[in-house]
Amino acid sequence: MSARILVVEDEEALTTLLRYNLAAEGYDVEIVGRGDEADTVLKERVPDLVVLDWMLPGLSGIELCRRLRARPETQQLPIIMLTARGEESERVRGLATGADDYIVKPFSVPELLARVRALLRRARPERLASVLTYGDIELDRDKRRVARSGRPVDLGPTEYRLLEFFLEHPGRVFSREQLLDSVWGRDIYIDERTVDVHIGRLRKVLNEGAEIDPIRTVRGAGYALDDRFAKATAQAGAVVG
Ligand code: CA
Repeated sequence: MSARILVVEDEEALTTLLRYNLAAEGYDVEIVGRGDEADTVLKERVPDLVVLDWMLPGLSGIELCRRLRARPETQQLPIIMLTARGEESERVRGLATGADDYIVKPFSVPELLARVRALLRRARPERLASVLTYGDIELDRDKRRVARSGRPVDLGPTEYRLLEFFLEHPGRVFSREQLLDSVWGRDIYIDERTVDVHIGRLRKVLNEGAEIDPIRTVRGAGYALDDRFAKATAQAGAVVG
């Protein structure tokens, strides 16, 4: 699953360059040209990382950063601030406001890409791990294999991506819409009930012969990988062993 990066920048030449290069690295890129618009977008959907320009129409990068840090959903969101050269004191202010890193314009694209990679790795190491484990579930990305308690689990491509996504965010509740965006892709129109169908299939195959269902249905909200599941399977394992 590719990491999602929101670029908040109003200089068109720069956004074109960033969109091209970030997409070439395999990231899912969204560009917003105004600070206030970015604020709205970020209330609806939290990306994996934000590249945030300092000087923006609508709302400054600094103010947006401050607002993001004040909201629990975006408190930990990795933010790279773009600043103009020679604004030493401003850069310090940028970090004080809560940006994780800053980069001075004009910058080299490889430098920015390296910072993005480093920050993503630091923020979410599980995204880059080749084997994801949770409770008795093991997903090997290199081999594209899934096992539960050592038993091979044969999943269809969509169920595989769903499980991979849940394993990347254990415990977090996702709405059907968020799952559609993240697992199916943002530009495809699919009925939200499709999510239920695939969750059903995932459960059926994953839970065959197992006692505990790792997927939690949250009424009126969506689905989550149950955060009590890892503990429960560890206890069950201890009893059996
Ligand atoms: Ca600007």
